[in-house]
Amino acid sequence: MTIYQNLIGGEWVGSDATRNINPSDTNEVVGLYADGTVEDTKNAIAAAKAAFPAWSRSGIWERHVILKKAGDEIMARKDELGALLAREEGKTLPEAIGETIRASQIFEFFAGEALRLAGEIIPSVRPNIGVEITRDPLGVIGIITPWNFPIAIPAWKIAPALCYGNTVVFKPAELVPACSWAIVDILNRAGLPKGVLNLVMGRGSVVGQTMLDSPDVTGITFTGSTGTGRRVAAASIEHNRKFQLEMGGKNPMVVLDDADLSVAVEAAANSGFFSTGQRCTASSRLIVTEGIHDKFVAALTAKLETLVVDNALKPGTHIGPVVDEKQLKTDTDYIEIGRKEGAKLAFGGELIKRETPGFYLQPTLFTEATNQMRISREEIFGPVVSVIRVKDYEEALATANDTPFGLSAGIATTSLKHATHFKRNSEAGMVMVNLPTAGVDFHVPFGGRKGSSYGPREQGKYAAEFYTSVKTAYTLA
Ligand code: NDP
Repeated sequence: MTIYQNLIGGEWVGSDATRNINPSDTNEVVGLYADGTVEDTKNAIAAAKAAFPAWSRSGIWERHVILKKAGDEIMARKDELGALLAREEGKTLPEAIGETIRASQIFEFFAGEALRLAGEIIPSVRPNIGVEITRDPLGVIGIITPWNFPIAIPAWKIAPALCYGNTVVFKPAELVPACSWAIVDILNRAGLPKGVLNLVMGRGSVVGQTMLDSPDVTGITFTGSTGTGRRVAAASIEHNRKFQLEMGGKNPMVVLDDADLSVAVEAAANSGFFSTGQRCTASSRLIVTEGIHDKFVAALTAKLETLVVDNALKPGTHIGPVVDEKQLKTDTDYIEIGRKEGAKLAFGGELIKRETPGFYLQPTLFTEATNQMRISREEIFGPVVSVIRVKDYEEALATANDTPFGLSAGIATTSLKHATHFKRNSEAGMVMVNLPTAGVDFHVPFGGRKGSSYGPREQGKYAAEFYTSVKTAYTLA
């Protein structure tokens, strides 16, 4: 089997490899991917540092052409890359193709942004002096990504980093290296100079930690768990380095008595269970007012009956497998915790067998949950959702905001008054009205508050806040 190697200083290197297993069929090895070492990582950082002076001064047309070319190739290969994504992560083929299209769109967006780089000229408060405000690239950006969006998250970090003139050392999650390798290969062939983009696949404790410990990494952008996020923060403060964290969520979706029932059920089923519930924006707390509670639970349960859990590549599958054995154990442990805490298991909760051996779990719905239970406070990251019954809108809003997280929040209502009030008073970074809490656009800011995020927003024009440093220059006329 071919070993997919790391890209360091423009050369493909590395021989030790780890196997990437298909969670829909654990007999299938998706590929062999290099297992980066401390030395590989140090070499990649040195290569990125050496490439920075030239790339930071490269023309905006050169950056535009490379990013555009990459976006075009990803789009042209969406079916093939989507299938690779579905095989390595386990989301369904339509979801995986959708994510691949999104990655292409992100490269297209930042190809355009490269041509729109601009500053400001402002008169000084003192006579005969001009003030210019410009944005400089940061330097070497360390990119550390999780397993749940194997192509979109790398795209939304790599594209702006390169667009604004930074060089990159990229470490994807060990579980899902295949799509990362593919987009680095695409960008490399699109004409990036040697050392501008370096790929070091391997373990977080080795590759990621070496990045955190290096004084030559001037910015780190991280998506993943709260625990690792805290390590990134501590190490970055030590090195006086800029950092950005996207971590977990325990996203609420409020359903009010006046909601359109079918809109509420579709939104809850989509954001609670699609992508196997493995989205940081998934709705895991459904906060439902008394008048609609029983109707909503009955309709959602009926909807769950219709959802097919099976091999991600099989036509007709709505929910693929859980990503791996470790995450499956986390999910089943939380199902047990929910039972012991006194929540009622209204649907699912069981492992299932399919034609191919994989990590299949029924979509699981708890009712009679309270907001104080662990299943309502801690991120599970699987297809496990709890329904919390509340008296009225005021209690629903207070319950929605009573969480250590603040990524996304939704409300299903036909009341303009409550929708408007919720948008203003939700303590989440993203608010959805009559829409799933998951499913966001690629050209507008993405991010949360409280324990979910730290630092500037990702995506859209707001990405410049992280990937550049503002300079104010004064000139005597
Ligand atoms: P981790 O935080 O462990 O992993 C995220 C990334 O950090 C991976 O690339 C990982 O590498 C890397 N990493 C691990 N240890 C270190 C380290 N010491 N220094 C630097 N980098 C490191 O999250 P998981 O992927 O294991 O997911 C666990 C939980 O995180 C989930 O159950 C969920 O709660 C949450 N999560 C949240 C996401 C979000 O989008 N908000 C996305 C994914 C997960 P490697 O995996 O190769 O070891």
